[in-house]
Order: sequence, then C-alpha cells, then structure tokens
Amino acid sequence: RAPARRAFSTNFPVLQQLTGNGSIPTVKNFINGEFVESKTDKWIELRNPATQEILCLVPETTPEELNEATTSAAEAAKSWRKSSVLARQRIMMDFQFLIRQHHDELAENIVAEAGKTFVDAKGDVFRGLQVVEQACALTTQLMGEKLTVAKDMETYMFREPLGVVAGICPFNFPAMIPLWMFPLAIAAGNSIVLKPSERDPGATMLLAKLAAQAGVPKGVLNVVHGSVDCVNYICDEPRIKAISFVGSDRAGEHIYTRGNANGKRVQANLGAKNHAVVLPDANKQATLNAIAGAAFGAAGQRCMALSTLVLVGESKEWLPELAERAKQLKVGYGMDPETDVGPVITVQSRERVERLIESGAKEGAKLLLDGRGVSVKGYENGNFVGPTIITDVKTNMECYREEIFGPVLVCLTVDTIDEAIELINNNPYGNGTAIFTNSGPSARKFEHEIDVGQVGINVPIPVPVPPFSFTGSRGSILGDMNFYGKSGLLFYTKPKTVTSLWKESDSTHTRSSVSMPT
Ligand code: NAD
Repeated sequence: RAPARRAFSTNFPVLQQLTGNGSIPTVKNFINGEFVESKTDKWIELRNPATQEILCLVPETTPEELNEATTSAAEAAKSWRKSSVLARQRIMMDFQFLIRQHHDELAENIVAEAGKTFVDAKGDVFRGLQVVEQACALTTQLMGEKLTVAKDMETYMFREPLGVVAGICPFNFPAMIPLWMFPLAIAAGNSIVLKPSERDPGATMLLAKLAAQAGVPKGVLNVVHGSVDCVNYICDEPRIKAISFVGSDRAGEHIYTRGNANGKRVQANLGAKNHAVVLPDANKQATLNAIAGAAFGAAGQRCMALSTLVLVGESKEWLPELAERAKQLKVGYGMDPETDVGPVITVQSRERVERLIESGAKEGAKLLLDGRGVSVKGYENGNFVGPTIITDVKTNMECYREEIFGPVLVCLTVDTIDEAIELINNNPYGNGTAIFTNSGPSARKFEHEIDVGQVGINVPIPVPVPPFSFTGSRGSILGDMNFYGKSGLLFYTKPKTVTSLWKESDSTHTRSSVSMPT
C-alpha cells in the first residue's frame, strides 16, 4: 500500500459519512439508531499522532444527550430481551461478515487516529472480530441447567440479560476492545451505552454503522463521546446496571469504586508491566525476534506488551544482539509499508515516555539504545520515540515501577529461575508474562509458580483466543469476571432458578405445613 500521508481529513469515509460539513469534521453520537450532532459547546481535538493534523472534534456529550441515549437503551432493552436468541445469533453472523468486508477501512482509521501500522491495525480489528465470531456460538453458550429433584419436581437455571449495560474503552485497541464489550452484551439480550476513547472513536463509529446494517435494532447499541463527565454519568445513572471498563489504573479504580457504590456490577481491566523471562537454553534467534516484536510493536502501547526483560544467567550476553535487532526496526508513519514502529498517541505521552527514560539514566541504569529525539522525514511533528533499551535496571527505579506505555524495554538480570519468579510475583501487576526456554520442567515450574493471569511459553503475547477469557490478575484487574469467553457472558447475564412442582393429583392433606420445605 502506498503511504497515504495526509489523506485522512479529506478521504476518510467514516468521518465523511457520519459527521457535519464544517471545516473540521465533528464526530456524532449514535443514539436510538441515528447519528446525531451533539449540542455541546465543549469539543476535544483529535489529532493524527504522526502529523498533529486535526482530524476531527469529539464532543463532550451533554447530560441531556446522555440521558437520551440511556432512555433509548432502556426502551430498547424491554423488547430486545424477548427477541429470539436465534435472531440475535443471526445478527452476529451478519455483523462478523460486515466487519470482514470493512476490515481495511477500519484499519486505515486506526492508523490515522491511533498511529498504529496498517498491519498491526488489521490485527486489532481481527482480534475483535474473533470475539464476534464467538458470539455467533451464543446459543450453546447460553444453555441453562436442569435437575430432576423428585419425580414431580424439577429445578432449572437459565441466564437473563441485565438490561442496560455500559462500556468505557481505552485508546490503544480502538476496534478490539469495543468488540470485547458490545457484541456479547447485545447477543446476551442487553442494550448498551458505549463510550469509546475520546482519542480515537472512529473505529467504534464505523462498527456501530455496521452493527445497525447487520440488524441491531434502534436503541440496542448507543455510542456517546466524552471524557470524565460522561464516565461519571455512566457510574451514577441508576438505569445502567453494569460497566465494562478497560484502561488505566487511575480511571479504573475511580470507575470501579463509584460504580460499585451505586450498586453496579463492574469489570475493570487495568494497567500492566509484563515480564519476559529468558533462560539460557532458549532458542536464541526466535526469542530475540519475539521480544523485540512484543516490546516495540504498537510502539509499546499494548497492555500485553513485553515491557520488562528478565535475563537469567548467561542469557544476559544476548543483549547486544537484541539491541541490533531493535535498531533495525523502522520508525515511521503507519501507512508506510516499511514502518515497524509508529508514533505514540499524544505529545504528552511522548513527553512522559521520554521523562521515564531519563529517570532510568538518572537513577543509575544504562541506556543501551536511546530512541529519544528520533526524527521521521516528512513527519517531523509526529509523536515518535524509537525503540529504547534500558539495562542494569533495579526494581526500585521509577522506570521499573511505572507502566511506561511506549517502545521502551527495561532489562534486569538474575541468576536463577527462582529469582525471576520471585521478582515477577513481587510486582503488583499480573496481566501477562512469558518464558522462553527449551526445558519442559522449567516451563512447567514457571507455569505453576508464577502469579500472573496469562502465561506464554515461548509465546510473547499470550492473549487467549475468545473461547477462553482475558484473564489478567492481581493489580491488572478489579472485579472477578473476565472479558469475553464464558466469563464474558456471565458478566452480562444473571442466573434465575425456577423450581416447579407438578403433582399428578390434588393433595389429600387438610392442614398447611409451615416448616421449611425439604
Ligand atoms: P485511560 O484510563 O486514560 O482511558 C480509558 C477510558 O477512561 C477513556 O474512555 C477515558 O475517557 C476514561 N478516563 C480517563 N481518565 C479518566 C478519569 N480521570 N475519570 C474517569 N474516566 C476517565 O486509558 P488509556 O490511556 O486510554 O489506555 C491505556 C491504558 O489502558 C494502559 O494503562 C493500558 O495498560 C490499559 N489497558 C489495559 C488492558 C487490559 O486488558 N488490562 C487493555 C488495554 C489497555
């Protein structure tokens, strides 16, 4: 694909179709099946992270509009919960087909708004598509349980939708994370008020359009935009029964606490610091390739990025070769087919990443590779940071304690696998980890002793496929129901049990029993 440098404000199908005609396009809300312009006077500028070009304005949706969206969702929920599960399944089948048809368009939007490379953006859409495909298997997954208690009595359990639920998304997977949320919520019979990240809502807008095209009725899916006020409305609105959140610790802790205080069910996936452990018996070339890809891919802005390397014993000798590999990665614009590492999301993010690199140097670590100050020809204003490797890192340093969320790999050395396990288990986060080894016993030891929810064995980014769930643990999650998979459906439904008695003939007793039935 040829680099499409400035094409997006003029040749950008999502915004052209769904926004007003002002000189800077505005992103609309999607309420009751219509794309509607917000009446707000507060707008958030959305800039292409590679150019700083303003792509569009995102509304801080007004309380009245948020109320309209919730009312529409509450009305729709009444009939949607009664719809045939087979009809809902069929809509999901059509939806997944439409996503596949619009795969490139979604990915181009993600390149423009979030700065990913085109191939990586396609992966973002694809991992979300897999959840929609899983939602097509809903009929089997929603089957209940039944027990014959006695010859004339039976108890059965089935799951019912919650009513109106909400989703609050981060910027870093503009397609995948909304797709973790609304397809399962809807397929289970709920309606949803979804708030994409204000930094890249375009993919969600196109997905909403496709969902409507696939047959999702008016009001079942509503998309509203904004930031803190919109989030607080969602936490406080009594008609919203549950919140799915993915994002930073700060926002997640706030939403979890405020949502719970208002009696809502909340699932909140938070930040991470994922460690890769390398044993000296690992396949060297494959391991170095995997680590460079998982540390610097998506400019390090994946919650499952391998941002911390723990080199055991002699594997520390591999660092110079790792740095050589990292140097070969090309920093640039996402539509350039040669690009490996795009920009980080905002100027503030770039400054924060650079500050954390500097903190490492100041605290006594060594900059084996310093990606600060990288300049990309033709994109001099972009938020670029080149791959950076910090060695001799200690666990008390800020660059180890903080989630950097940029293309920065911090490296520590230990002598044994036991020390590596202890180090990781002492880190507050538990999202993902990976071990690279050719030793079955070492891998098994790691798998069982490590206190992290998603473990890769020679797999750098072990995000489970959607028949399973995304099972980050400890500091990386609040709430105990995971996203997608069986747990995802449990989150969006509540169980109901029915006990029935059908006697063949009327009772011959003349006195009522008042003791507890057994
Ligand atoms: P963020 O917390 O800044 O934003 C997420 C959402 O919360 C947005 O919709 C935003 O509008 C809202 N928000 C932000 N600040 C808020 C506040 N003070 N009060 C109320 N709402 C607020 O997160 P981000 O920067 O968009 O995403 C990156 C973060 O998300 C990283 O920490 C990353 O690890 C995490 N993440 C985690 C997972 C996971 O599954 N564990 C997946 C993806 C991203």
